[in-house]
Amino acid sequence: MASIMRSSASAARGASARFLHPTVRPARCLRSLSTTSCRRQEDILDISAIPPTPISHMSETEMMMAESVSKFAQEAILPKVREMDEAEKMDPALVERLFEQGLMGIEIPEEYGGSGMNFTAGIVGIEELARVDPSVSVLVDVHNTLVNTAILKYGTAESKRKWLPRLATETVGSFCLSEPASGSDAFALKTKAEKIADGYKINGSKMWITNSVEADFFIVFANLDPSKGYKGITAFVVEKSAKGFSIAKKEKKLGIRASSTCVINFDDVEIPKDQLLGEEGQGYKYAIGLLNEGRIGIAAQMTGLALGAWENAAAYVWKDRKQFGQLVGEFQGMQHQLAQAYTEISAARALVYNASRKKEAGEDFVRDAAMAKLYASQVAGRVSGQAIEWMGGMGFVREGIAEKMFRDSKIGAIYEGTSNIQLQTIAKLLQKEYTR
Ligand SMILES: Cc1cc2nc3c(=O)[nH]c(=O)nc-3n(C[C@H](O)[C@H](O)[C@H](O)COP(=O)(O)OP(=O)(O)OC[C@H]3O[C@@H](n4cnc5c(N)ncnc54)[C@H](O)[C@@H]3O)c2cc1C
Repeated sequence: MASIMRSSASAARGASARFLHPTVRPARCLRSLSTTSCRRQEDILDISAIPPTPISHMSETEMMMAESVSKFAQEAILPKVREMDEAEKMDPALVERLFEQGLMGIEIPEEYGGSGMNFTAGIVGIEELARVDPSVSVLVDVHNTLVNTAILKYGTAESKRKWLPRLATETVGSFCLSEPASGSDAFALKTKAEKIADGYKINGSKMWITNSVEADFFIVFANLDPSKGYKGITAFVVEKSAKGFSIAKKEKKLGIRASSTCVINFDDVEIPKDQLLGEEGQGYKYAIGLLNEGRIGIAAQMTGLALGAWENAAAYVWKDRKQFGQLVGEFQGMQHQLAQAYTEISAARALVYNASRKKEAGEDFVRDAAMAKLYASQVAGRVSGQAIEWMGGMGFVREGIAEKMFRDSKIGAIYEGTSNIQLQTIAKLLQKEYTR
């Protein structure tokens, strides 16, 4: 525990250097849903030493993350949101800023050039980014929760030294599991790996791969021994520069349009031995473990999206739009809807933070992560849809962020396990628990 406390303290120091604008004080709270977290408190990671606290309480490090990312998102992302969405392209200068801000190596230890923060700090950052742009949020989310974590958890000491400094400071990562014929049934994947003299050769196609335009680093799942079924699945590191690697198609999408989503082909891609990630045949376990954590990130993305949509509409109906001689947000019919939606966002956030805290505490969090993702994506869809109605015609036109948030919300029920798959996970675990 002492070492966790030490690293948290050093993370707070690092954070104040890298994230905090000099005028931002930790005690100031920027977002309304976390007003209780404005109180200064002990680091919540030392859970045995303090009485239970409200789930929304944050450590100093997490508060700094929330405040600095909120400020960064308003200043650096908001002015670009509409343009990037229309162009269906992430601004490369913005990706550079994400690295500069330390947002691409949130959990990577400082010795590797990362920010050395805890998982919940990352979750808070992902949520804050989504409040302004869910596309930027998912770029940061996939890179941190799936790619960096894969190396941190399963990489050798040598591969950590080789890749982590790059991932923290300059190289975007992608996570390649899905294929044309294997989405929910991910382990039916057909991409093959074979052993060659000095390493491995990969052949196959991956589909819907987030970050693939911006990324140079790809975690690729391929079957090294199809006779063993899913137990042949193995994880590899592939660089974009590898011969035989190609982006076959960039998808045009309903939402999160600035986030790149591509089909990738691997034609006799040869990689050296040391680009095996972890152990042969363990890829399916790694994928399950990583996606269980990753889901909390998507749930945070959806919570941030819902709050961003709500705040945007609330400002319009409470400060701007008048009908029948009064602000439209003063009609009771409107007020009840705003209150209901905010309550749902708060409930989604509680599920997200609870899953995140349980993961950090080393408890089983699989059901919590599934519930958080399921519910947060439902809330995001509902609230962003209602927000358009609250704003009337102004919500429907492509000027502000209202219609974009609605389009962006749909993906929450699809990637990193569809809502049906989350329900299946929740039901399976409940049944096990209640039939013991
Ligand atoms: C924008 C975007 C980004 C993505 N990014 C990545 C990425 O970076 N890396 C990656 O590997 N993948 C990525 N994906 C893929 C994503 O994870 C899959 O789309 C998702 O897992 C669903 O798979 P599918 O699309 O093949 O749907 P399918 O599996 O074909 O499902 C279709 C429908 O059938 C339902 N269904 C399937 N099986 C069951 C069941 N057993 N019980 C009940 N209902 C079921 C589903 O819930 C869904 O409603 C991305 C997808 C998108 C759209």
